[in-house]
Amino acid sequence: MAKGKQTLQAVRGMNDILPEQTPRWQRLENRVRDLLQSYGYREIRMPIVEKTELFKRSIGEVTDIVEKEMYTFEDRNGDSLTLRPEGTAGCVRACIEHGLLHKQTQRLWYMGPMFRHERPQKGRYRQFHQIGVEAFGMPGPDIDAELILMTARMWRALGLADVRLEINSLGSSEARAAYRQVLVDYLKAHYDWLDEDSQRRLESNPLRILDSKNPDMQQLIEDAPKLADHLDDESRRHFEALRGHLDAAGVSYIVNPRLVRGLDYYSRTVFEWVTDRLGAQGTVCAGGRYDGLVEWLGGRPTPAVGFAMGIERLVALLEASETEAVALRPHAYLVLMGDAAIAAGQALAERLRDAVPGLALQVNCGGGSFKSQFKKADRSGAEVALVVGEDELAAGRLAFKPLRGDAGQEHLDEAAAIERLRQLID
Ligand code: ATP
Ligand code: MG
Repeated sequence: MAKGKQTLQAVRGMNDILPEQTPRWQRLENRVRDLLQSYGYREIRMPIVEKTELFKRSIGEVTDIVEKEMYTFEDRNGDSLTLRPEGTAGCVRACIEHGLLHKQTQRLWYMGPMFRHERPQKGRYRQFHQIGVEAFGMPGPDIDAELILMTARMWRALGLADVRLEINSLGSSEARAAYRQVLVDYLKAHYDWLDEDSQRRLESNPLRILDSKNPDMQQLIEDAPKLADHLDDESRRHFEALRGHLDAAGVSYIVNPRLVRGLDYYSRTVFEWVTDRLGAQGTVCAGGRYDGLVEWLGGRPTPAVGFAMGIERLVALLEASETEAVALRPHAYLVLMGDAAIAAGQALAERLRDAVPGLALQVNCGGGSFKSQFKKADRSGAEVALVVGEDELAAGRLAFKPLRGDAGQEHLDEAAAIERLRQLID
């Protein structure tokens, strides 16, 4: 560290994901990607920055996100831009812009960083990562069920236990409007019990009050009129059919009448996967149906349903349920003794990689004594050290030395070494 210079740190709530952690992330991402593709979902990649207007219109002006969590700035042209706080808005925008919803259905997914200016704590960051899935053009409960069953399979593929499924129906927007009045009447009658946020929300977004995490409000919320008692017939049938699909597939769930989700654009089905193992930040995946959003953003009326999962929380859950550490280990470590071996080392390594597809080979760079190179070989986790020194070079051979177990060192020519490496990675 240079004397007198202050070191700089990352922005609060924005994390470096270090090399020890990335294998777990990659494993999760790879498994999820494979699974999504096996269900027929295709990847879409959107920009990280969008016009602020997009989020105001889609998420809603009176939500936590738009009111206080967005990273909004003016660019050099004076346009108001925002770092995306979630992916649905951008995904819908892109689909409309490129005509992806015209006379066709779409099953899409995306993965990447999202930004919200929240109070950082365990499981809650200002830059965090989501894998999001959106399905367009399918109005029925069958696609809702597909998404939920797919997430259930994801947890199995990842070896995650202890996540429970909670579902609810928000009804049609008309039913919600009727319920909203009943709820406002109830809340007004208990006005003094409401916290400041909720008093403010009473007119603008009363349903969100049901989502409050304030412990002092829980009894009031518990006793509030239930949305389920005000569902329209169509939504009731939709919800029953969804439950039928889940029951038939043997996926268990809890109907949580207070599950309303934080965003404005949901209708009918909403669901969350929740765990008790991560403390207060227990929701690892959340989603639902948002039939109105496409039209709201200027597209043709298009039914839609989707979900997003929080990668940080899933990784934390994986960590909590893992018995053994995940590490990326090379198969072999190439020890190079002396200038001539160093000069020949990179070309040799390339020949070995050509000859043994899938070989993870780490080359010692920067020289060093025999002892220090072996120490590095051992620390790399490699199974064998390949050693080339002056003698080996002269004889056209290399020493093949297993680093785990008791097998002894052998001297092999290149072809034989290649054969042994092939066996090693099988
Ligand atoms: P919460 O109630 O925890 O604030 P949310 O309703 O704001 O969640 P969504 O917008 O539905 O969350 O995002 C989907 C998922 O993304 C969440 O279930 C969670 O796993 C993850 N997530 C949301 N915000 C954060 C954050 N600030 N840090 C880490 N993960 C997050
Ligand atoms: Mg939130």
